[in-house]
Amino acid sequence: MAIARCDKHTPSGTRHAGIKYAYKAFALPLGYPETAAICGREDCEGPARLWLTEPERADHQRGVRIFGIRTRSAKIRVSDELISNGFEDTM
Ligand SMILES: [Zn+2]
Repeated sequence: MAIARCDKHTPSGTRHAGIKYAYKAFALPLGYPETAAICGREDCEGPARLWLTEPERADHQRGVRIFGIRTRSAKIRVSDELISNGFEDTM
């Protein structure tokens, strides 16, 4: 599932419930950076970008704009723009 992190806390990939997630693209929550979506890192209050897994990136490209996040405590609606993160393209 997607993960919300600010520009200082880019996820390099994470393991959750035995599954490895790689985050290669992010979408911006509506209104970013004046957004209600806040970085999930403890003690960080930066505006979050929403990092997507590969299946979620494909969902975004076919029009999905509402994504669940790992804790399932909230959902975030994003804009049409999809930004690729170049340095993780070798993964
Ligand atoms: Zn942060």
